[in-house]
Order: sequence, then structure tokens, then C-alpha cells
Amino acid sequence: SKGSNERNKLHFSSPVVQGYSISRTQFKAKIKKALEQDEFELFYQPQVDSSTGQVIGCEALIRWFSKDQGMISPTVFIPVAEECQLIVDIGNWALNAACAQLKEWQAYVPAKFTVAINLSTRHLASLDLVNYVEELINKYEIDPTMLEFEITESAIIENLEGTVDVLRQLQILGCSISVDDFGTGYSNLTYLRQIPLDRLKIDRCFIKEMAYILEDASLSRMIIQISHTLGLEVVAEGVETEAQYHLLKKFNCDFFQGFYFSKPKPAAEVLELIKAPTWKLKAEDSKDTLLI
Ligand code: C2E
Ligand code: MG
Ligand code: MG
Ligand code: MG
Repeated sequence: SKGSNERNKLHFSSPVVQGYSISRTQFKAKIKKALEQDEFELFYQPQVDSSTGQVIGCEALIRWFSKDQGMISPTVFIPVAEECQLIVDIGNWALNAACAQLKEWQAYVPAKFTVAINLSTRHLASLDLVNYVEELINKYEIDPTMLEFEITESAIIENLEGTVDVLRQLQILGCSISVDDFGTGYSNLTYLRQIPLDRLKIDRCFIKEMAYILEDASLSRMIIQISHTLGLEVVAEGVETEAQYHLLKKFNCDFFQGFYFSKPKPAAEVLELIKAPTWKLKAEDSKDTLLI
């Protein structure tokens, strides 16, 4: 029927492709072709050390520069790719690109620098993941401790046993593991003790209004405390204002990521920030009163 046909279509609303719509099947074919034609690029978003202001790592975020449609957001094509094997191909492409970049950066970055790669559930469950990671580490001769993997709570919960096994193997290689978008999934705290983790990323929905909404500030502080209790480092996502960064610093958040410091950028621009940050973290203002 026309109804189900409509539901199966993807509608784009970006200025470049106003009113453009396409079937999911056609869109998947476009993604596949884009991979073959090398239309993807990794951007990197700095993660800032709360005590030194240094860039201590970055998150790799994929960008699609389509020849006929301009930039297409990963929030549009990643969920579609995740419906099929395509996400494994995209994921492997991203892994290779990030490792090649790390090899180039290795001489310039500070000790303990990490590049974080987002892992989709299906990619995590694919049989060759650990072997491929090991192959790339050898191929590019990179320090495995510089590789970090981000997985979401839902990916963990969907297949706890399988996930634990793969994550442990990645940790044995020397890589580290982060929980992404923490607080938006099932948030069953017991899994935090069941799976091997190094870091936790507080979802930006808690950060967004933490300077205005007391509950959000309290929740952020609580998440930081719980993480530290479990021996995990904490990254705050979506830090956009000085007020947010000040509060997070008071709450002992370890690392900041967000537009306040830098948007995701091409590798060359990020390297400039690694060498010389454009921001200065102010010393804590002792006159600030903390209401919570
Ligand atoms: P994510 O992993 O949670 O990545 C963080 C997203 O927040 C990024 O969106 C980033 O640009 C955005 N962001 C960072 N700081 C701020 C801020 O201060 N304010 C606001 N409003 N947003 C901020 P992006 O790049 O559009 O990526 C969206 C999602 O797409 C990612 O969410 C991730 O789930 C997925 N994704 C991106 N690249 C990859 C990839 O290579 N592989 C996989 N599997 N997923 C990816
Ligand atoms: Mg992420
Ligand atoms: Mg996230
Ligand atoms: Mg996300």
C-alpha cells in the first residue's frame, strides 16, 4: 500500500536536499557506493583534560561528503547502515582510517593519548572484529593503548555475555573501553560491574541544562561519583558553555568534550589543537558558591 511505502522512505530535510526522498533500499545502495568511491572522512573531536587543558584524546566521528547531496549526517546514515551488514563495512573502514591517522599522529601526541572509535552492536558481534583490530595494530605499528572503543548501554544489554567476551579480548590487546551516551539506555547499574570498562561518557542530555536545572547538575555529579567509585574515568559530552565546564570541574569530572572547546574537525586542524590549545582553563574561582 501507499502507506507502508511512505513509511519505508527516508526524508531529508537539510537545505541541500530539501524535499528529497528515497527508499531505504536505494539509500543502502548509495551508502555502499559511497564507501567504494571513498566519500567518507573521519573528523576528530578533542577531549580535554580538566586539570591541564591539554587535548588528551579525541573521538573519531564519521562524515559523508556525498558528491550529489553534500554533507549527510551520521545520525541519518548510521542507523540505516545498522540495519544490515553495511555497518560492519563502514565500521571497518573507520577503524582502518583511525589507525592510519594514529600512526601519523603518534610522534606528536602526549603520553596516554587516545583515539575513540564508535562501535555499533552488529560490528561488535561480528566474528572478525578482534582479529581485524590486531591486524591494524600490527600493520600501522601503533601503540594499542591509544585505541579506545565506545559502545552504548543498549549494545551491552542486548548481548551481555557476548559483549563481555569481545570487550575483554580488546582490553587484552591493550585497548580501552568507554560506555557512550551513559544515562540514556537502560541504566541498570549492575552491568557496570559485570563488563570490563575504563571510561564512562555522560550523555549530553544531562549536561545541556545542568547550569539551570538543579536535578541535572545533581545527576551529573552523582554519575561522576559512581564512576569514580567503580574506578572509571569520566568524560562529559556536549560541553557548550563556560558555566557547564566550571560545574563539571567542581564535580571532579576528568575530561571534557564539546563545542565549548572544539567541534569535530579534520585531522590536520585537530593536530594544531593538540600542539597548542586555543583555550585556557581558568583556575577555579574560590568565590563561586556551590548550591548543591
Ligand atoms: P556520539 O558517539 O554520541 O557522538 C557525539 C555526537 O555529539 C557527535 O555527533 C558530535 O558532533 C556531537 N557533539 C559533540 N559535542 C557537542 C556539543 O557540544 N553540542 C552538541 N549539540 N553536539 C555535540 P555526530 O558527529 O553527528 O555523530 C552522531 C552519532 O553518530 C554519534 O553519537 C555516533 O553514535 C554515530 N557515529 C558517528 N560516527 C560513527 C562511526 O564512525 N561509527 C559508528 N558506529 N557510529 C558513528
Ligand atoms: Mg561516541
Ligand atoms: Mg555519545
Ligand atoms: Mg549517540
